[in-house]
Amino acid sequence: MSTVNAKRIRQLPASVVNKIAAGEVIERPASVVKELLENSVDAGATQIEVALEQGGTELIRVTDNASGIAHDQLELAVTSHATSKIDDADDLFRVGTFGFRGEALASITEVGQATIRSRTADQDSGFELTINGGQRESMVPCGAPAGTTIEIRELFYNTPVRRKFLRSPQTEKGHITEAFTRIALAHPEIRMTLLNNNKPLHQLPATHSWSERIGEFFGPEIADNLIPISSESGEVAIHGYVVNPSVSRANNKMQYLFLNNRCIRDRSLQHALSEAYRGLLMTGRFPVCFLRMTMPFELVDVNVHPAKLEVRFQNGGQIYSHLLGTVRNKFLSTDLTAHAQLNKPSVQAGPGLGAPAAHIPSSHQEQIAFTPAAPTRDWTIAPRDAMNRQLLEGATQTSPAMPFDDSIFPSVEGEPGRPRQPLSAGTPLTRFDRDIQHGEATPAETSAMDPPPTRRRPLALQVHNTYLISETDEGMIVIDQHALHERIIYEQLREKILAGKLETQGLLVPEPVTLPPAEAAAVLEQTELLATIGIGIQPFGGDTVLVSSYPAMLANHNPAEMLRSVVDKLMEDSSKLDSRDLVDELLHMISCKAAIKAGDKLTNEEIDSLLQHRQLCQDAHHCPHGRPTSLVFSRQELDRRFKRI
Ligand code: ADP
Ligand code: MG
Repeated sequence: MSTVNAKRIRQLPASVVNKIAAGEVIERPASVVKELLENSVDAGATQIEVALEQGGTELIRVTDNASGIAHDQLELAVTSHATSKIDDADDLFRVGTFGFRGEALASITEVGQATIRSRTADQDSGFELTINGGQRESMVPCGAPAGTTIEIRELFYNTPVRRKFLRSPQTEKGHITEAFTRIALAHPEIRMTLLNNNKPLHQLPATHSWSERIGEFFGPEIADNLIPISSESGEVAIHGYVVNPSVSRANNKMQYLFLNNRCIRDRSLQHALSEAYRGLLMTGRFPVCFLRMTMPFELVDVNVHPAKLEVRFQNGGQIYSHLLGTVRNKFLSTDLTAHAQLNKPSVQAGPGLGAPAAHIPSSHQEQIAFTPAAPTRDWTIAPRDAMNRQLLEGATQTSPAMPFDDSIFPSVEGEPGRPRQPLSAGTPLTRFDRDIQHGEATPAETSAMDPPPTRRRPLALQVHNTYLISETDEGMIVIDQHALHERIIYEQLREKILAGKLETQGLLVPEPVTLPPAEAAAVLEQTELLATIGIGIQPFGGDTVLVSSYPAMLANHNPAEMLRSVVDKLMEDSSKLDSRDLVDELLHMISCKAAIKAGDKLTNEEIDSLLQHRQLCQDAHHCPHGRPTSLVFSRQELDRRFKRI
């Protein structure tokens, strides 16, 4: 016989229910700040002040100048499921305010010592309600300006487990700052202040300019690099800014998405952004953006997450493509060249109004910041082929020995370890380094060297066997030879793959490669995909596979070694990437391997060829990993540095 007695089922007392609910809404001090700020915004505040002591662990006080809560409503406001914002269940589907569950004040007053002071404009005096741990202590008249002040002391004093989980004041302050930032970004029209231990962290004047508020928070590094985007599709609109890829972050926290003024996190939209920045950012770097989306309330369910951070779109796919398309189009018509700007010892070098010093890039005078350039050529207008021809005609005139062909690719017969041939074998080799070492050649030297007619200056000067320097209309450009070559190869490869015209090199005797079992299985699973990038694989039995062909431009690499690096990519990425991503990753790898390296001395012809091919690139500004391929120093910057102006 069982000795276990059936347990009695009881209805939980309201205070316990509220504490459970409170746990859902109030995770830490930042949750309190978020809820109180949202209430102030919902109530129509034009000024809000948040004051903290010890990062909110001792005190949180939010003061607004909004509608206030009428005397007879004060107690109701702090009871559970009491709200002025919705009337019935249908309203849940057209929620335009931040709040609507009527739970925040009930939860907050359950887990802290709260004082609420409020006065509506038509009341002569305000009232102050004190509640400790959900127990009403007092309600007394008090003098108060119109609006509401809510003070929470000793958060979680009655839920010791939670209190124990509080992090240091410093950490909690960080979370609060983030909550504050989200709301302040969504509402530039509200004047907002954040103080900790009486020290102002942010003092934000009201403004109608979104970029101004963004600048207040994040300083000129971001504010100077905003690229406005704006697009509407049906009832969905996206407005705001993406940030020039020269500025990126190691995580996606600086992707601010606002849906109908509510800050949200949405994986699919984050993915759309990464897609749009593909090839513009280095692996592991994330775009920065500030985007506002608006859509009819019916098209989105905000009631899926207690803190309402996640939402459910009725038509997620369409919104994904909308965002991706908008950002991509914008980038196609924007010059994303990284501009080297030597910071002047500027007037605005000190922290701006309310901007915390940490956000301001240090004002080292030699520091290189990047600013967006004026939009130039719209690459979408001319069909690539017509444009190639046009550019080639130009190129042919200046350099008849340089027909557009695949000579930029490493030659199959290159010496081992140096898989290149001079790009134009017919031209006598005039070494540019002589020009560098000797400066302007003296007549005597000239006669001792190559005959003058063949001495042709290359289009750029190679320095440290790594960078190419050239004059441009704007000023001067410094090119990373490896990054640029990599980009060129990457684009050409991609084009060939898309056209089904990738040259592959068949092996007379297929090379057996033995791999760890999991890797062999992965390779055999992906033979089709590998074939698209020119790698022919056949099963051999056991954990051995045969490499029967590989991309011609990797002719100088050992097939087994090449396959192993491909496998590394396959293993690391196949779970999270679709096949298009994978092909792209592999293309990056192949381009990197095939490209000239830093340290390779280039002939004049090679330099010219690189620069001419640069003109043909869709994105000549970034290597496939997203590093910049070039830096532009404007004439003006140079003049300024040399104190000519
Ligand atoms: P919700 O915001 O979901 O309605 P809350 O518990 O946060 O629930 O607030 C309850 C009610 O108290 C609100 O619906 C609103 O009427 C009132 N209220 C809360 N904060 C303020 C404020 N700062 N100014 C005016 N009214 C407020
Ligand atoms: Mg609320």
